[in-house]
Amino acid sequence: MVIDTPGMRELGLFDADEGIRASFTDVEEWFSQCRFTDCRHQAEPGCAVLAALADGSLLRERWEHYVTQQHENKYVQDKTSYLINKRARNKTTTMWSKQTKKNGGWKK
Ligand SMILES: [Zn+2]
Repeated sequence: MVIDTPGMRELGLFDADEGIRASFTDVEEWFSQCRFTDCRHQAEPGCAVLAALADGSLLRERWEHYVTQQHENKYVQDKTSYLINKRARNKTTTMWSKQTKKNGGWKK
């Protein structure tokens, strides 16, 4: 199956490399019209995204694509901060064992 066709490219399905900001401006422009600035676009009253989905101004597939992408970005961020925390913990442990050796323990 050949999926890498010019038609698919025009739909923006292969724009991931350009970054989420560039690819989803048509989705994100709805966000400024939400009643709440911290709107999660799930069940909030006055959500412009939900309204646009309801009247067909925003395609549901397009929105779901955006949500999936956001989720993946979040996963990457979580993983990164996990690794940073792990590194910080290792550092603390190393410092602690050095400190113990320096004190020489009880034999002297
Ligand atoms: Zn919203």
